[in-house]
Amino acid sequence: MSKILIIGAGGVGGVVTHKCAMNSDVFSDITLASRTKSKCDRIAKEVKAMHGVDVATAAIDADDVPELAALIRDLKPKLVINVALPYQDLPIMDACLETGVNYLDTANYEPIDEAKFQYSWQWAYRERFEEAGLMALLGCGFDPGVTGVFTAYAAKHHFDEMHYLDIVDCNGGDHGKAFATNFNPEINIREITQPGRYWLDGKWVEIPAMSEHKPIDYPSVGVRESYVLYHEELESLVQNFPTLKRARFWMTFGQEYITHLRVLQNVGMTSIVPIEYEGQKIVPLQFLKAVLPKPEELGENYTGETSIGCQIQGIENGQPKSYYIYNNCSHAACYREVRSQAVSYTTGVPAMIGAKMMLTEAWMKPGVHNVEELDPDPFMAQLNEQGLPWVEQVGLTLPHDYD
Ligand code: NDP
Repeated sequence: MSKILIIGAGGVGGVVTHKCAMNSDVFSDITLASRTKSKCDRIAKEVKAMHGVDVATAAIDADDVPELAALIRDLKPKLVINVALPYQDLPIMDACLETGVNYLDTANYEPIDEAKFQYSWQWAYRERFEEAGLMALLGCGFDPGVTGVFTAYAAKHHFDEMHYLDIVDCNGGDHGKAFATNFNPEINIREITQPGRYWLDGKWVEIPAMSEHKPIDYPSVGVRESYVLYHEELESLVQNFPTLKRARFWMTFGQEYITHLRVLQNVGMTSIVPIEYEGQKIVPLQFLKAVLPKPEELGENYTGETSIGCQIQGIENGQPKSYYIYNNCSHAACYREVRSQAVSYTTGVPAMIGAKMMLTEAWMKPGVHNVEELDPDPFMAQLNEQGLPWVEQVGLTLPHDYD
């Protein structure tokens, strides 16, 4: 029975709040706080109507550490779940340290004026959390998050050594809009317009954005063109599983999406450099975000499924072994359950499970940790119970080249 504070009332924050309310034996007292309180109130009303659980709400600017620390002191939660934006990671971690509260997020820190996400800023908090006897769990969404747990599960149960990891992420859904992103547009577009990067033989190989791609066949979805991107979990996974010779991340994009993105880039709308417009400074990408559909509003007529998993090649008992573990998630089923689309759902459910792991002590370990450092088994059991069942296949032919 624990009190929690959820920060961020967007697509993911809505799912986390619903799922915590649906696990009220663990999350007995829930507060949802965000920059715009009306968004928290809308979610709280929906949760009350659907699950009969009361959620308290508050307005907070999480960039303001003293204000946030005051809210935390007032509420006295055992854990803060940060599902605001990556820019808020460090201020929220600072406020947690100041008030003696545990922390969880789903995306690693990136400075607002530079599209450069990496764990170093948050790993620098390791000693401070450890000395305070507090835990910070980083990247506990789906990717990062479940992909790290899947990899840890493969290492524990299927391999003596893992050599090749390909994380394959497909959204086979259709939301009926000409162009929309499934999570915060600003963060999403910053991520995919960066150069691609993957791990090969002990170093990072950088490639132009979206320059390497191939068709991959996804279960129940079919063949989709998939592009090599840099994704944050690669940074921690190659450190935690040093036998990996190669680690890559693939994501599907439709031609329509790529064409829109290319045009937006060409006309300067994806830039994060402020421009002067009618006497005030605006950031083109932030303006673009304001006119695009909101992730939390895509769910209603969304059809199709996401399919995200890990394809691994390695050695067990001296023999080569191939392994694929994945989850498929239906947009429409998510909407029925928590009024969300599957991308927010596949992020919010693991965040709730990670919080549950911490609050039930299954994962409570002082310091700053990535998910793959902890025992995957109790988390994997929860995935099956909480709406993200997984499937594993052994000995199949994987669509990659191996040396
Ligand atoms: P949204 O943009 O839908 O929601 C973000 C929320 O954070 C909004 O309610 C916003 O408030 C609030 N917020 C922003 N700044 C502040 C602030 N300074 N103080 C308080 N609240 C603030 O994003 P999503 O829900 O789609 O994504 C949430 C997080 O999840 C992101 O960090 C994203 O990167 C991550 N994510 C992780 C994934 C994974 O698998 N690991 C996948 C998808 C997303 P307002 O509405 O007022 O602007």
